[in-house]
Amino acid sequence: MQTAEITRRFLAHFAASGHTVVPSTPLPAVNDPNLLFVNAGMVQFVPYFLGQVTPPYARATSVQKCLRTPDIDEVGRTSRHGTFFQMTGNFSFGDYFKAQAIPMAWDLLTNPVAAGGFGLDPDRLWVTVYLEDDEAADIWHRVVGVPAQRIVRRGMADNFWSMGIPGPCGPSSEIYVDRGPDYGREGGPAVDEDRYLELWNLVFMQYERGPGEGKEGYPILGDLPARNIDTGMGLERVAAYLQGVDNLYEIDEVRPILTRAAELTGKRYGAHSGHVATSSHPDDVRLRVIADHVRTALMLVSDGVTPSNEGRGYVLRRILRRAIRAVRLSGFEDPALPELLPVARDAMAGSYPEVAQRFERIADVTYAEEETFRSTLKQGATILDTALSDTRREGGVQLAAREAFLLHDTYGFPIDLTLEIAAEQGLTVDEPGFRALMAEQRRRTRADAQARKTGHADRAVFRGVLDQHGPTDWLAYTTLETDSTVLALVREGQPTAHAGVGDLITVVLDRTPFYAESGGQEADAGVLTASDVQAEVVDVQRLFGRLVVHQVRVLDGDLHVGQAVHAAVDAEWRLGARQAHSGTHVLHAALRQVLGPTALQSGSYNRPGYLRLDFGWRGALAPETRGEVEDVANLAVRADLPVTAQVMPLARAKEIGALALFGEAYGEDVRVVEIGGEWSRELCGGTHVEGSAQIGPLAVVGESSVGAGVRRIEAHVGVEAFRYLARERDLVHRLAGLFHARPDEVGDRVEQTVAQLRQAEKEVATLRANLLATRAGAATPTDVDGTAYLGMRAPEGTSTAEARTLAQRLRDQLAPERPGVVAVTASSQGRGSLVVAVNAAARAGGVAADDLVRRVLAGKGGGGPDLAQGGGVQGDRVADLLTAVERQLAS
Ligand code: ATP
Ligand code: MG
Repeated sequence: MQTAEITRRFLAHFAASGHTVVPSTPLPAVNDPNLLFVNAGMVQFVPYFLGQVTPPYARATSVQKCLRTPDIDEVGRTSRHGTFFQMTGNFSFGDYFKAQAIPMAWDLLTNPVAAGGFGLDPDRLWVTVYLEDDEAADIWHRVVGVPAQRIVRRGMADNFWSMGIPGPCGPSSEIYVDRGPDYGREGGPAVDEDRYLELWNLVFMQYERGPGEGKEGYPILGDLPARNIDTGMGLERVAAYLQGVDNLYEIDEVRPILTRAAELTGKRYGAHSGHVATSSHPDDVRLRVIADHVRTALMLVSDGVTPSNEGRGYVLRRILRRAIRAVRLSGFEDPALPELLPVARDAMAGSYPEVAQRFERIADVTYAEEETFRSTLKQGATILDTALSDTRREGGVQLAAREAFLLHDTYGFPIDLTLEIAAEQGLTVDEPGFRALMAEQRRRTRADAQARKTGHADRAVFRGVLDQHGPTDWLAYTTLETDSTVLALVREGQPTAHAGVGDLITVVLDRTPFYAESGGQEADAGVLTASDVQAEVVDVQRLFGRLVVHQVRVLDGDLHVGQAVHAAVDAEWRLGARQAHSGTHVLHAALRQVLGPTALQSGSYNRPGYLRLDFGWRGALAPETRGEVEDVANLAVRADLPVTAQVMPLARAKEIGALALFGEAYGEDVRVVEIGGEWSRELCGGTHVEGSAQIGPLAVVGESSVGAGVRRIEAHVGVEAFRYLARERDLVHRLAGLFHARPDEVGDRVEQTVAQLRQAEKEVATLRANLLATRAGAATPTDVDGTAYLGMRAPEGTSTAEARTLAQRLRDQLAPERPGVVAVTASSQGRGSLVVAVNAAARAGGVAADDLVRRVLAGKGGGGPDLAQGGGVQGDRVADLLTAVERQLAS
């Protein structure tokens, strides 16, 4: 059964019992700061489970795109872990519970194929339940009819679910299929997880947990008021079983990539091993890794992620690089992604048409990353070669751990390539040392993550405030000032009743006019005041979507909970922010008008007077193109287009073509901001001007690259744009003064001056060459123990290359039958060098140029017996070198 058909049946089965089919969210998890990617079907429903938002339906079903970075090391080695995978699930929000959820899952798995099910043999299915969950065990046994010996009870670590923080929790129950004795030992899921393949996990949320660490170290506080169901079935795992293949990398949506990779690398998949994934040959593991990672990268880029050195972008970069590396290690050296990604696209487009629609961009981003990585590898290989030859020259047989680590850490050069290249040259690598350095680095990273977790404690405090007082009455769209009441004060994560002068404290108000940082727009600045109290608002953030928190510095007086304060946004600041945010939309529209619709914004930032916008594009904009974009933007400003905002259902917004940011999650209702009607139409929660003329001039100040396939354009707006242009004008006037020219002549003048300077430099070089030739002609050798010796100091400014030419010319002037040695010193900008040339007669007598140089320069220098040089001498010491050479000859 094809994967798409399994999906269809799953959704149909649950739709038939009243579940609303909810689409997958994009892979980037946007509402949880502790999660980079969605890793389970339930993630998008968390606010419903936590009771923060009333669910619009009591039952839902979905096929969720998931990514689990911790599973990356399992890929290819087990038969059942993908980095990207799809989780199908059904969810109940306070509606049905165990008694329905269990038979619903069982029926779908075991109903005959002809009746819409998956047709699994009930005798091959095993289930696990939580140790104390008699209720679930009973349903499995009595209602469903699973024999007691195939119902396994397991402890909290395996069969009890929570989100790791206080909130809902509950027992879980998993369904496994026995793949038979070929796949491992008998004895159920506790014995062999590759033979007994976990297909489906059912979570029964019924208790509330308290604070505590780990999977078991927390108290259960009591029953939840409303009990929920959250289940997740691994689509790829079911597909692998139903398609009769051994692992997820061989199912219809993945196998074509693997096959293409095998063709490219000339490896025959499965030539060495049978189906037990855990004992696979490295060649087969690599092919599976390639297939998994290429597909994962496709899905990630399609959802708006671009490679970078942090966060989500870093995960993508690692995945792409692992794939490319695996291809290389398998023996294919040319760019591989252009061969593999189109195959992945064709395999996935059936279920995800967007990967075909967005493919141009996906290809741009990924192919550019491969190019970058290939040059990294090239650069790394050169550095590694030097390190290896140094090691050998010093008589070593092992590359030092720190060299391997440096290559890995600084240059992104993978350790397995280091090992391979070293081995080719007959050297080993201090691998244990390398691992130790890696472990040390991981420890540091973990400490960072730990530090970030303390943010969790804060969040729990603010959760409490939200639970107690409800959402903030947020008035940023309608007013700049409100009379408000202080609901809570939080200092360093702890609630407090008072704050005094100098304190930096977080304040929650019942109502606020302050704009919280979001959608790229900087938070508002302003003040909180009361009689005798003055406090400056330095930052404003929004938590849980509905609670506005102000970071405040108390300048005067005391703040306390319950106090009445006047909250006032700095009107100038807000005007600047509105100009900048509307300016961002105008610039975005102008970019798309000039470059075409693929120039899509991927991120932005704006604050009063300044904005920057990142957009998908390859290569720098030509100056004319940049000028044209700026022109279109300023024409739109001059046209004073009306700016309007209205809230509408997401479906309607899509229908009228409002631009949504890649990778952002939007609610049911969205705010659409229009400038000049459809000229610019974007989903946006920011504050804007009323007409585009209020933006003031828009001056583009820079355009640069911020990663593969992503450009950044920066601009000033309003009075800042005036100031920027005025500064430029002043600069031109200054230059005009210096060049005694009119401002419009400055460009030509600079060009002329540069040309004159070049010409003058050339003339100086010719003069110096003539001078050298004259001196050379006049030079006469002295006799040092029967050798004709000519020592000469070249004029200041002579380069080492010129000195070499001079030394050779002087040597040619010496009588060939007599031993002859020439030494030339040169100095330029305080650095001196020595060149020695030796003729054939002297060489026959045992004199060597490189030898002489090294003896004079204490071992430094390079070259051969006829001509050699050394540098790094202080300029004022070069005179001594000539006598030193003479002394060497005499001895
Ligand atoms: P395992 O122990 O096999 O790693 P899990 O306990 O991590 O699985 P859950 O978190 O319960 O899995 O996820 C629900 C279902 O999603 C699993 O029953 C499985 O079918 C599927 N699943 C989990 N991780 C992956 C993965 N990396 N690749 C493919 N499917 C997965
Ligand atoms: Mg797992």
